[in-house]
Amino acid sequence: MDVTFSFDNTYSRLPGRFFARVDPTPVSNPSLIAVNHELAQELQLDPAWLASPEGIAVLAGNLVPDGAEPIAAAYAGHQFGHPVPQLGDGRAVLIGETVDRTGVRRDIQLKGSGRTPFSRGGDGRAALGPVIREYLVSEAMAALGIPTTRALAAVVTGETVIRERPLPGAVLTRVASSHIRVGTFQYFAFRRDIDGVRTLADYVIARHYPDAAGTGTPYRALLDAVVARQADLVAQWLLVGFIHGVMNTDNMSVAGETIDYGPCAFLDAYDPATVLSAIDQLGRYAYGNQPGIAHWNLTRLAETLVPLLADETEAAIATAQEALAAFAPRFEAAFHAGLRRKLGLSSEREGDAALGQDLLDLMRDNQADYTLTFRNLGAAAGDPAGDRQVRDLFVDPTAYDPWSRRWRRRLAEDPQAAEDRRTAMDSVNPKFIPRNHRIEAVIEAAVERGDLSPFAELRTVLSSPFDEQPHFEAYAAPPSEQQRVLQTFCGT
Ligand code: AMP
Ligand code: MG
Repeated sequence: MDVTFSFDNTYSRLPGRFFARVDPTPVSNPSLIAVNHELAQELQLDPAWLASPEGIAVLAGNLVPDGAEPIAAAYAGHQFGHPVPQLGDGRAVLIGETVDRTGVRRDIQLKGSGRTPFSRGGDGRAALGPVIREYLVSEAMAALGIPTTRALAAVVTGETVIRERPLPGAVLTRVASSHIRVGTFQYFAFRRDIDGVRTLADYVIARHYPDAAGTGTPYRALLDAVVARQADLVAQWLLVGFIHGVMNTDNMSVAGETIDYGPCAFLDAYDPATVLSAIDQLGRYAYGNQPGIAHWNLTRLAETLVPLLADETEAAIATAQEALAAFAPRFEAAFHAGLRRKLGLSSEREGDAALGQDLLDLMRDNQADYTLTFRNLGAAAGDPAGDRQVRDLFVDPTAYDPWSRRWRRRLAEDPQAAEDRRTAMDSVNPKFIPRNHRIEAVIEAAVERGDLSPFAELRTVLSSPFDEQPHFEAYAAPPSEQQRVLQTFCGT
């Protein structure tokens, strides 16, 4: 185990126009609020060192460790459908890359670490609330088995940041398989810098999609691979009820990880039209729009690659369209396979997709809790007495009954043994998700009362989302009418 990071940096070897070299800005009085032991060990880091004064100084940006080469990456993006030629890391620096225990290269980034040349009018800082939200939700996603950036640690800075009101400042240490976004490609494409696009594409192939290099058409293979990973990722989001909230192209990783947790949230009651983000007035990033938006974003990526796909523009566009056409079937296949598993089906039959969709429609019409409906189906699958726990989640419980008879007939044709089915269902239908009202309560305790124990407890609960945790049963419950959170804010 290393006492400190052993960096092996590659992005900072790319041409100078890819980033700005900038150190984090020191803060007055940092203190640690969380360190992720399991992730530290994956990164071959000693968690005790991270929690030491020297470790905290690094996590706060007060000490640049040996081997670090801090940079702010340049990127552009479409925000809510509108092109913005320059965004970039305005409140984050990549301090370096390290190779983890399994040989995977990981970025270590400080988010909230001060101004950079990309800050525009911003202060380069992060408030404690959004740092807590990102920590909790990204780690919950990881525990759910969904590709995501990770949270290695969080510190408070001892300084105040001014938002709608003064708030405690914080820095999150984010770990990602890289921070390259669709918007990174767009940065060069917007400048007609085809060499930049090619250099970036070659880098992404080498780092994330090495198999593409061996094909005769590496850039086509790159696009195919990104399309496939994104389709799989969004299917997984939908299967757990995740709403990203700001799927701008600068918030979409080309490595296929969930990135940039802002006004994100999980569904309580199932409704595909759900929008919680306060900045998404038109509902562009509603839960049910996410596959369509992912395709839209991938189309923007494909546009940047057109000059690399063929000599003739027409042929290149045809190639890009072919690659993009694979998105919908890939997404549908991943989503429906996941939905079958959620229903306890180990086999595939015609009509399964309709069976799943009909349940979703009934859930929407009856405001049924998404997470608990599926979780409780696990108990009902082997024992019809369990039906009560499902039907009670529906405004009109009788709406569930005809569907349940259909489902049982289908289960009877499925070869899986009843005991195995319950285990299989419980391993894909989480009991504990980061419910919005819980996150808000944790943030309020931390910000208003300096009480971090609810944060610690919620982290514990969310680290085992599929297990029964009798001590923490209350965390499985949906919000009451009064507890319901109607809007989330990115708070930047
Ligand atoms: P996000 O909302 O995190 O996707 O950020 C969009 C853009 O705004 C990115 O370029 C960020 O770096 C930048 N940004 C967000 N908050 C701040 C801030 N407090 N200071 C400077 N730049 C920021
Ligand atoms: Mg962002």
